[in-house]
Amino acid sequence: MVRRKPEEIQEIKKRLLEHYPQAHTELNYKNLYQLLVAVMLSAQCTDKRVNLITPDLFKKYPNVHALAQADIDELKELIKSCSFFNNKAKNLIKMAQMVEEKYGGKIPEDEKELVKLPGVGQKTAHVVMIEYFGKNLMAVDTHVFRVAHRLRLSDAKTREGVEKDLVQAFKTDLAAIHQAMVLFGRYICTAKNPKCDQCFLYDLCDSEDKRPLKDS
Ligand code: SF4
Repeated sequence: MVRRKPEEIQEIKKRLLEHYPQAHTELNYKNLYQLLVAVMLSAQCTDKRVNLITPDLFKKYPNVHALAQADIDELKELIKSCSFFNNKAKNLIKMAQMVEEKYGGKIPEDEKELVKLPGVGQKTAHVVMIEYFGKNLMAVDTHVFRVAHRLRLSDAKTREGVEKDLVQAFKTDLAAIHQAMVLFGRYICTAKNPKCDQCFLYDLCDSEDKRPLKDS
């Protein structure tokens, strides 16, 4: 992969931030507990699906304490439309129990502590820290991964590698860029049939997935 010139990276950054000035997660939540649960559920599952599940879930388990005492079968029943619901149910209860036992019922506000919780990997921890605290971190989901490759910002094969490349390329405003790349990938630079005719980065893209403009 031919590396992007610094001025091209700056231009991509500028346009992403301009087009998504207030970008936030599309997951519905009211506090850190709800956000962490929603992000954990969203692995391999759409935000839309998670948003259908969480109202009843948070009604039944309004806080860490309630979730720590949840009956696993009842919890599974509530989240069964979500992929990998068996594992997610186990992890949610274990996560809540550990928060109760190790952190006095308060979800840790530090990504290094968050990743110690069952079912919380680096991506989940970073997404929570980005969304809730605006921390200067990058998280790579399927959309960010694809967009980074198409825009020649990374050719890494793993999420961790792409994350490293993006941090190195953009350095600042990582939280806002993450949110922007997720929305850009979800609605414009989609996996199938990217909407190149609506793309504000069209002139900077030389991806083989780029589609010609309709009137050209
Ligand atoms: S031109 Fe098309 S493929 Fe390239 S970044 Fe834009 S939407 Fe994605």
